[in-house]
Amino acid sequence: MSQVLILEPSKATALFIQITLQKAGFDCDHASTYEGAQELIAANDYFVGLSSMVLDGVDYGMGIDLLLEHRIPAIAVTASLDDHVLRALSNKNIVDYVLKKPDQAEYIARIVSRVYKNQGVKVLIVDDSASVRDWVTRILKRQGLTVLQAEDGVDATKVFYTNSDIKLVLTDYNMPEMDGLRLTAHLRSIRSMDELSIIVLSSDTKSRTAPLFLKQGANDFIQKTASIEEILCRVNSNLEFLELIQASRDRANKDFLTGLWNRRYFFEYGEPLYEQLILGGRELCVVILDIDHFKKVNDTYGHDAGDEVLKEFSALLADYVGDAGLVSRFGGEEFTIVLDGVPADELIDFLEEFRVLVEGFSVEFKGQVITITVSIGATANMDESLTAMISRADDKLYEAKGSGRNKVLCDW
Ligand code: GH3
Ligand code: MG
Ligand code: MG
Repeated sequence: MSQVLILEPSKATALFIQITLQKAGFDCDHASTYEGAQELIAANDYFVGLSSMVLDGVDYGMGIDLLLEHRIPAIAVTASLDDHVLRALSNKNIVDYVLKKPDQAEYIARIVSRVYKNQGVKVLIVDDSASVRDWVTRILKRQGLTVLQAEDGVDATKVFYTNSDIKLVLTDYNMPEMDGLRLTAHLRSIRSMDELSIIVLSSDTKSRTAPLFLKQGANDFIQKTASIEEILCRVNSNLEFLELIQASRDRANKDFLTGLWNRRYFFEYGEPLYEQLILGGRELCVVILDIDHFKKVNDTYGHDAGDEVLKEFSALLADYVGDAGLVSRFGGEEFTIVLDGVPADELIDFLEEFRVLVEGFSVEFKGQVITITVSIGATANMDESLTAMISRADDKLYEAKGSGRNKVLCDW
């Protein structure tokens, strides 16, 4: 579980934050003093900390400094927001601040979730001014984001090709070599708006500029005079948008129980891959696996135990196949693999090794140990279509079932 540190002298406030974050799925530790926090930090890893600006026995804001010294992204908790507090906050490298008010619960959960999800999210900053790049980098790094830099459009394109998992690009407009507009057009031609977010950060104030970018496919346009808070809010909402799209895609394409791809996605992914490999004269294998006598698992141990077996079997299969292919749950206790990373002449050995792995694998459920075997049908014959390949693999699976189960049969 994820760990959050709450450094707060008031028990009531700490409890309120703790309950809020627990509801959002986070595990929290609480220290009411600076010394208590030092001990907890020494013994645990926290991905984020929330600290009151006021703590007994130490100077104003020292709880935040303690978190930052240990490279823990820090959120300030404050009772008021007068000029004096705002000035103190703006001098600290904090993620954000939250007010000690019950109506802040949702925002607290949202900002902590954001920092949690930002771990591993890559952002690219493109600007010909090193000082602007460094300034934006500092702001985004304290949100837990991984930040890359490029000094113009051409440089950005190179960085992008070697870091294809970049989720968000923050770009300037006027730059030598390739400007922000051409960069936006180029990136948009290779990544859609729901895969990559492009935010333009420009000092250009002409009224035509923003629509020019938005029509070219930028997601957002911000003036360089905007406050840090505004830049962050926009970065966050753009990342949230990408995640919402991803979540709805997963709901449509993934199987709820096992997290594997579903039948629909098998075809969506497999058909273009089949066409591409045929054109390139390359090999593709299709495999169908079906757990033997699975009905008996349900009858003997119950449906929940059956579900657990399906989940653990799926994880074992996905782990075994790795990058060599795409695993999907075709339905019930039947699974398919489109395998493009195993040569046809190694197919039998590859599947045989998995069959033996399953023989030795067991699932523990409520004190009972459940073992299973699997029958596997496969084909490397790419004649006709992907559907024809499935049908050939299925015939072999049927043959395996009819001739004793727990075996691998291939059609060439
Ligand atoms: P065979 O060796 O011939 O494949 O026999 P089998 O019992 O595995 O196959 P059969 O098709 O007769 O039964 C499949 C069973 O899988 C019946 C169904 O209730 C069960 N099943 C399908 N989906 C799920 C599921 O999501 N969870 C659980 N627990 N059981 C499921
Ligand atoms: Mg079965
Ligand atoms: Mg079946």
